[in-house]
Amino acid sequence: MSTSPSAPTFSLAGKAALVTGASRGIGRAIAVALAGAGAEVFCTSTKAGGCADTLLAIAAAGGAKAHALVCDVASPDQVEQLAKTVLEQAGKLDLLINNAGITRDGLFLRMSTDDFDQVIGTNLRGVFLVCKAFARSMAKTRGGRIVNIGSVVGISGNAGQANYAAAKAGLCGFSKSLAQELAGRGVTVNVIAPGFIATDMTAAIPEEAQKTMLGSIPAGRFGEPKDIAAAALFLCSDAASYITGQTLVVDGGMTM
Ligand code: NAP
Repeated sequence: MSTSPSAPTFSLAGKAALVTGASRGIGRAIAVALAGAGAEVFCTSTKAGGCADTLLAIAAAGGAKAHALVCDVASPDQVEQLAKTVLEQAGKLDLLINNAGITRDGLFLRMSTDDFDQVIGTNLRGVFLVCKAFARSMAKTRGGRIVNIGSVVGISGNAGQANYAAAKAGLCGFSKSLAQELAGRGVTVNVIAPGFIATDMTAAIPEEAQKTMLGSIPAGRFGEPKDIAAAALFLCSDAASYITGQTLVVDGGMTM
């Protein structure tokens, strides 16, 4: 039986969203995009007042309701408290964007166990903790969306980032497994793998290395946080309801 076609909608009116690591960069751009589409957005940072500028950006863009919360995603207690607060205030969570991430770069022979553990603890274990805290409730809403921010480095590897690449590659396997478990509950789970996006994280890369990277990007420019926000908005929208367990590479063609 065929159903008549209708245009997909990108409106997120009535949805409650959580963006971890929304104090700047990619997380802030995603929070602004989701709020601009009508979602009530909870933004997190590890610091009190860390998301103040994000809330201002959301207001300036005419976004719907937004809130700033403090949470270190590597801390099970803080994540539990975060879930309690969000679910009490919004009554549900529809859209979960696991964006918080760190780097502790260094060549493998010099990489400390602490640098490995910290990156895995935030970028992979942190995503596990946040998903765990919200998955049961999201399953009840049906139509829930989990978007995990990975990296092209999780696909290709990168000298000097064994810890980060391991965490981001792990995120792909984790997300596919979760996608299989939650598909029947109407929750999709996908990864966005950005290439080089101009943020505080990449500002630390030496200028010469940045020039070399730019030369390897067919699009001829570095990505901007809004490029990733657009992909997140799509994956959160009705238009992407039949997409799950996928990794969407957004890198200007760098790794094709
Ligand atoms: P960024 O500018 O350094 O921002 C990182 C965000 O993560 C900040 O909001 C920070 O919040 C938060 N954060 C860090 N540790 C946290 C923790 N333990 N708990 C909660 N929040 C924490 O980085 P970005 O470039 O926007 O990157 C965002 C995501 O995209 C990361 O997952 C990153 O790995 C990924 N990514 C970035 C690029 C790129 O080229 N920029 C490429 C591929 C993937 P506070 O400091 O305010 O606490």
